[in-house]
This record gives sequence, structure tokens and C-alpha cells, in this order.
Amino acid sequence: MDADNTTEVLVIGAGPGGYVAAIRAAQHGLDVTLVERDAYGGVCLNRGCIPSKAYVSATDVAHDAATAEEMGIYADPAIDLAAMCDWKDGVVDRLTGGVEKLCKANGVGLVEGTAAFLDSETVRVERDEDTETIAFENCIVATGSRPIELPGFSFAADPVLDSAAALELDSVPDRLVVVGAGYIGMELSTVFAKLGSDVTVVEALDGALPGYEDDVARVVRKRAESLGVDFHFGEGATGWRDAADGDIVVTTETADGEASTHGADRVLVAVGREPVTDTLDAANAGLEPTDDGVFETDERGETDISGIYAVGDVAGEPMLAHVASAEGLVAAGAIAGEPAAFDTRAIPAAVFTDPEIATVGLTEAEAAEEGYDPVVGEMPFNASGRALTAGETDGFVRIVASADGFLLGAQIVGPEASELVAEPTLGIEMGATLEDVAATIHTHPTLSEAVMEAAENALGQAIHTLNR
Ligand code: FAD
Ligand code: NAD
Repeated sequence: MDADNTTEVLVIGAGPGGYVAAIRAAQHGLDVTLVERDAYGGVCLNRGCIPSKAYVSATDVAHDAATAEEMGIYADPAIDLAAMCDWKDGVVDRLTGGVEKLCKANGVGLVEGTAAFLDSETVRVERDEDTETIAFENCIVATGSRPIELPGFSFAADPVLDSAAALELDSVPDRLVVVGAGYIGMELSTVFAKLGSDVTVVEALDGALPGYEDDVARVVRKRAESLGVDFHFGEGATGWRDAADGDIVVTTETADGEASTHGADRVLVAVGREPVTDTLDAANAGLEPTDDGVFETDERGETDISGIYAVGDVAGEPMLAHVASAEGLVAAGAIAGEPAAFDTRAIPAAVFTDPEIATVGLTEAEAAEEGYDPVVGEMPFNASGRALTAGETDGFVRIVASADGFLLGAQIVGPEASELVAEPTLGIEMGATLEDVAATIHTHPTLSEAVMEAAENALGQAIHTLNR
């Protein structure tokens, strides 16, 4: 068909998958058009990573000041949530404005509207005022994900919050029930506990952050409990009803059918996210999501429809912003004819709780399952000079290596874990050994010395902790 416009690369969705792919494709000299129906930066910048981390940092400032008597500091900070929300919005605006400018500066053509396939070579873009058709040679689908709506918890009902709504509140709920102790549930229950809410977490499985090792997740659960968070494990949320005085009651049930109720004035539901594929008329292009709702791809990001790629949350787990961007770079490279492929060996993940968790690569158990005879070293933060001077001594660094010393993974729980994980991630990426990390001179006094010391511990050469 004759289209209104043509482009070499059409990118649908301007989140961290789409905008990064678009800029890289333009850097390869390709003619690129990026279509976005809502806001530049996607979920990550507008309703996800950035707003949530703004609140994590702001509530840390208040909480740290209020709990520093041991350091001789006495403070009782007052919190104005509406002002905090305005500050957070300012951070978001700066970043989303930056994305738009970067796209333009790299020569990416920006189109506002919702793109839907007419066939495997053309989309129609709909806006309030008009529509246009765009023919493409290659397409990168980066339409992201949305929160899963639990039966009995319509997000349209006022007391029920998804993560986006929780990050827009202008007053602190007195009592908040959080459904799900995953990434969002744990990050935001910490934030709201520090804001002063009475937080109750109900989790269907038998522990917090079920994807993480028990000794890692336990450090975070214990700190959350010390902040007053009340956990109920093994309880699946079944619904809510109005109670007296504008309050609500959240109902739960165990696998054995035992029912419980939890009073609240708001309930945050964070039980996972599902890919967005229904905005696209995907069937017109021959694209079909799997039963899990994702567009499956090969290691270059290409779907089984030639020339159509999928990156980021819409391509499935892990649904993380840096994974979306990394997949975007690979897809752009593949379209440009580079020998690009996505390597899953060194994907870091971080949970921005108090303290943070960050992991990369294999755990000891996973390494053993894959046939390695793993060597493990640990360094507890209570033996780190910098952790002691920061008053943050909970947690540890664990390094997992093959018997011949090649780094396979790291699990870190403790202060700045999300930053510290960069070193073992680079190590795995470069094929580094325990000796490489141990022989690298680390600045003193820093938390990163704990990574070096964990590597030394694996070698039986630790100075500041007893060797295993
Ligand atoms: P998205 O960011 O979802 O962007 C997709 C874009 O596509 C959207 O802007 C949407 O409007 C647009 N779109 C959809 N359909 C169409 C269409 N048909 N036409 C045009 N445009 C369309 N990840 C981390 O790594 N670290 C974190 O700390 C972190 N914190 C998070 C906190 C919260 C509360 C949430 C909800 C998520 C968090 N995430 C975090 C996950 C992260 O936000 C996602 O993994 C990331 O945004 C995925 O990027 P994406 O580009 O695939 O999709
Ligand atoms: P999640 O998958 O991390 O956790 C959902 C939790 O809800 C699970 O523990 C599950 O057992 C529980 N659950 C499911 N149904 C339930 C029920 N009926 N009652 C009680 N518990 C129930 O999902 P999430 O926290 O919504 O986060 C979604 C995704 O967003 C994450 O998987 C991650 O990919 C991304 N994210 C990442 C970060 C980060 O990188 N720091 C932060 C936030 C979100």
C-alpha cells in the first residue's frame, strides 16, 4: 500500500528499550522514526525506576536524620509529601525532556500517537486530531508492560493503588496494605513505612523477594520489620470491602483456605507486570504473543516475522530497564548488519530496599546445577571500615567462581549494593578471575573493598575476615 511516510527503522514505544534503540540505530546512520503514545522515557522515567528511586532517596534522608542519635545527631524531620511529589516530578521532567532532546539531536524523527500494524511492513499512527501511515523496512516493538490487575482489586476503585498511583499520592496513608512482597512491594513498603504509614504486607508465597536466596532476602525483611512493616506470608489477597469511617478491609486466604482480614485506608497491589501487546493490532503483522503474553525473539531480538524485533518488557523477563536498553542496542546493531547478540551471563539486578540487594550471574546453587564445582567467598559489612563509618553494617558481599577461579556470580546485600555490583558484572563480562579482583588495588576506606575481600576470601587469603 502507499504510505504517507517511509522509514528504515520504525521504533514503537519510547521507554528505555525504544529510545535507546532509536538513538543507536540513528548513530548507525539509519533513518529512524520513534512513535510514542504517552510520554518520552516510558514507564521507567515517568512511573517506575526514577520516581520510585526519588522517593527511596528522599525518605532515606528523613529516616537517616531521624535515627542518627548514635552519631550525636538529633532531628525530627517534618515531611510534606506534596512537596516531595513536586520535587520528584521536577526530576522526571528533566530526564524526559533530556530523552526528547537526545533523540532530536541524534536525528531520530519523533511521532506522537499510537502505532498499530496494518501489515508486516506498515503501521497506522492514530492521534486525537489525525492519523498517518508509515511504511518501514525494520520495526522494533518496545511497548513495555503494565501492572497486573488482581481479581477483586480493580485499579479503578479509589482505595486500590497500582505503583503509579502510589507514587502520586499527596498525603501519607495512615494504614497501607501492600499485596505482593516482590520488587515493588518491598521497595514501596519501605518508602511508606519511612513516611510514617502502618504497613502490612501480604504475600502468597512463604517469604519476601521470593526470587532471591533466603539469607539475602532475610536481611531486607528484618530491616523492614524493624521499620514496623508487618508481614503475612502464605496469604493470597482475595478482595477488599468498605469498613467503618471510610476505612477498608483487605481479605486474604492461605492455600489451606484459612481466611484473614487486614484493615487499611489504602491497598497497593504489586503482583507483577504483563507485556503490552494489545495496542498494536499485532495479528495484522502476523505477530502472536506466547501464552505468557510476550513476543518471543531470537538472541538478536528478532521475532519470527522477518524484520520485526521486540525489546524490553514486551519481550519478557527479566523486566528491567537496563535489560530493555541492552536489548535495544542489540536490535539496532542487528538491523545495521552488525554481528550483535544478547548475552545473558552478566545481567545485574538491584532491589532498592533498605539495605539494597544486587546480584549478577549465578548463585552457588545455580553454579552447582550448571555443573561447576563452585568456589565461594564472603565479606560481611560489619567487618568493613567504611560500612562502620556509615553506620550501615548489615549484609555481605558473596562472590561465586568456578573451581579454576573465573567469576560466575555475585550476591550483595548491604549499603550501595546497586553500585557495588558493577565491579563483578564487569568482571564476569571480561572473563576476570578471583585473582584479578583480589590483586586490584581498591581505594580505602570504601565499600568496594568488600568486593575485593570477598574474592580474597574465596582464595583463602582474606585479611579482614576469617577465611572459610
Ligand atoms: P516501557 O518503559 O514500559 O515503555 C514502553 C512505552 O511504549 C510506553 O511509553 C508506552 O506509552 C509506549 N507504547 C505502548 N504501546 C504503544 C503503541 N502502540 N504506540 C506507541 N507507543 C506505545 N527497572 C529497573 O531496571 N530498575 C528499577 O529500579 C525499576 N524500578 C521500577 C519501579 C516501578 C514502580 C516499576 C513499575 C517498574 C520499575 N522497573 C525498574 C522496571 C522498568 O520500568 C521497566 O523494565 C522498563 O520501563 C521497561 O522498558 P521498556 O522500554 O520495555 O517499556
Ligand atoms: P514481582 O513479580 O517482583 O512480585 C510480585 C509478588 O506478588 C510475588 O512475590 C508474588 O508471589 C506475589 N503475589 C502474586 N499474587 C498474589 C496475591 N494474590 N496475594 C499476595 N501476593 C501475591 O512483581 P512487582 O513487584 O509487581 O514488580 C513487577 C516487575 O517490575 C518486577 O518483576 C521487575 O521486573 C520490575 N521492577 C524492578 C525494580 C528494580 O529493578 N529495582 C523495581 C520495581 C519493579
